[in-house]
Amino acid sequence: MLKKLLKEVLRTTKPRLKRLEELGIRTVEDFLLFFPRRYTDQREVVRIIDVKIGEVNTVRGTIISFFHRGGWKGKMSITNALIKDKTGTVKAVWFNQPFLKQKIAKGMEVMLCGKPSLEPRSANIVFKSPEVEAIKEQQIHTARIVPIYPETELDEQRSDQKKSKLSAKWLREKLFQIMPAAKELEEFLPEDIVKKYELMPFGKAVATAHFPEDEAKLETAKHRLAFNELFILQLAALQRKAIWRQIAREQRKAVATNWDSIKAFTEKLPWALTKAQKQSVYEIITDMAQPYPMSRLLEGDTGSGKTVVATLAIYHAVTSGFQACLLAPTEILARQHFNTVSRLLEPFGIVPQLLVGSIKGKEKDMIRALVNSGQCRIVVGTHALLSEHISFEKLGLAVVDEQHRFGVKQREKLKTFGSPHVLHMTATPIPRTLALVLYGDQDLSILDELPPGRQKIVTRLVPEEKRDDAYGWIHEQIALGRQAFIIFPLIHESDTLELKAATKEYEHLSKDIFPDVKLGLLHGKLAADEKESTMSRFSKGEIQILVSTSVVEVGVDVPNATIMMIEGAERFGLAQLHQFRGRVGRGSEQSFCLLFPTTPSPENLKRLGALVNHDSGFKLAEIDLQIRGPGQVFGTAQSGLPDLRMANLSDSLTIKKSREAVEVLIAEDPMLKKYPLLLEKIAEQENIAIDY
Ligand code: ADP
Ligand code: MG
Repeated sequence: MLKKLLKEVLRTTKPRLKRLEELGIRTVEDFLLFFPRRYTDQREVVRIIDVKIGEVNTVRGTIISFFHRGGWKGKMSITNALIKDKTGTVKAVWFNQPFLKQKIAKGMEVMLCGKPSLEPRSANIVFKSPEVEAIKEQQIHTARIVPIYPETELDEQRSDQKKSKLSAKWLREKLFQIMPAAKELEEFLPEDIVKKYELMPFGKAVATAHFPEDEAKLETAKHRLAFNELFILQLAALQRKAIWRQIAREQRKAVATNWDSIKAFTEKLPWALTKAQKQSVYEIITDMAQPYPMSRLLEGDTGSGKTVVATLAIYHAVTSGFQACLLAPTEILARQHFNTVSRLLEPFGIVPQLLVGSIKGKEKDMIRALVNSGQCRIVVGTHALLSEHISFEKLGLAVVDEQHRFGVKQREKLKTFGSPHVLHMTATPIPRTLALVLYGDQDLSILDELPPGRQKIVTRLVPEEKRDDAYGWIHEQIALGRQAFIIFPLIHESDTLELKAATKEYEHLSKDIFPDVKLGLLHGKLAADEKESTMSRFSKGEIQILVSTSVVEVGVDVPNATIMMIEGAERFGLAQLHQFRGRVGRGSEQSFCLLFPTTPSPENLKRLGALVNHDSGFKLAEIDLQIRGPGQVFGTAQSGLPDLRMANLSDSLTIKKSREAVEVLIAEDPMLKKYPLLLEKIAEQENIAIDY
């Protein structure tokens, strides 16, 4: 039954079948797995005397009069009925529902559900176009928890029943018809997992999700279905990892652990590593000693000390005879990393090379040759480095900064360099549970503490009427020798209109507001060397105010900058605002972040208020997730958020449990030889491409 095509099973029209097909529903099984988006609870049946006008009521009574006037010559058809129970009588009216006369008739006992009104003159209670259903063994549309399907969400809210080819009622009726087939849905989870996590059997959960008997059962069913999605998603990722580890074993990239050498490195640092840094270093070094390549994500707020940890990993690879590379998303960042890494490695006489777009001709050829021959052990560059005709002599480690900008192609490219260990770094703080689902095939190291003695950045929401005061205050601060960022919300760096607006604002600021101050402008359309020179003039203090679009977002380090002013702040996500804020507070002076909302709606103010009250990026990410949901926060397309129907990515408990179950299973049977049904589910899952 499950594999049968709907067109063989349902008696219905071609357009409806076509619409179903557009939704990816062809077989009985597909249809069973088309879950409601939400439910309305219409279980409470009231006596007619207790009906509340203007609210949804369900009443039960007998039809004592029934009248249908057919619509002809383009006129509407009208159906009238009087329904009576022991306490009173109500009227019901339907327009253009000719089929009603085949479903209900005088004398029949029915359920009626809808929002009644009072007829002005007679004061009769009238239900306009209510749901009506003859009393049966099991109600479908009334007097129960009624499922509402995504497709028909809109027409639930209208009282007339036209529009989409699949009406709510139609969907419920047809699904009810095929529901017995749910019993045939095979349990694909191993028995011990079903038992251990007290999961409702699969088929039962599917049936319950459509037509729940009560709330408790509905919750259990939803939990089971959410568990399924998270389980399969993570199983696919962890199995991919297991397979990858098998294949890449051949590469022999294991870097023998040498704690003495690590200690020598940390002893040369001017400060002690934080606890979180030590933990991450431990995880990375142990991972690099494994016979398979590491694939690890190092997450941490700006300033949490990721670069130091990465440099240690690089040092470890290089002193063990491998080469290492560090890739950054922009040239500015590549240079900054280059400086940091060079400085940290100087005491050991290790000299990295920089390879970026603006290095050309002979110089570039020379660096390339050094890398290819293995004379140069460390190269720092932009992601473009990988397409620069480079062939490492023995690449052991690739550190990739800001991995969400790192494409699949580049990932593939790394494989051609003999699958080195890969350490991704990101300052986007994704809560651990969520990261496990999103980046399931990577291991995680998290820097969740800042080095001691960091100052708190004073963050303020500034209303428009205080703008001039703010400018005045910035003037004073600059007179004291500080520097400032002013950020404009260019959401798409390529948008010329938006860019124009930013440029205009820059001119306005230079001429009218800060005529006596040196300003610079930074945006994504500038040539790399222009950006470079503006940035370096800002860091040398030749420019006092840097007006910038979001290109300045990541990594830039200017300790003397103490003011971060953000225009149109509500247009950015909390995580991004937090990144901007991280550009200041890097020196010894008190730093400030001023948020200027363009649309100060209560919701925007609430979100921005979170930034005023919290300094932890992880905390802010959690809040943002709660307020806006994962789709909004990460943008489904670019982050490859999985298509989850029943699971909720903020449900960390179910994520944890499913993760635990997957880990146990993979440890016991990495190739899933004993679980062909699970392999099938994974294959289905992979068809919904996850590109992260
Ligand atoms: P991230 O890359 O995470 O933004 P960095 O590695 O650039 O952070 O470190 C930020 C700043 O903090 C740098 O100036 C670095 O020298 C300093 N730093 C890193 N780790 C420590 C530590 N354990 N104690 C004190 N300062 C540190
Ligand atoms: Mg950094």
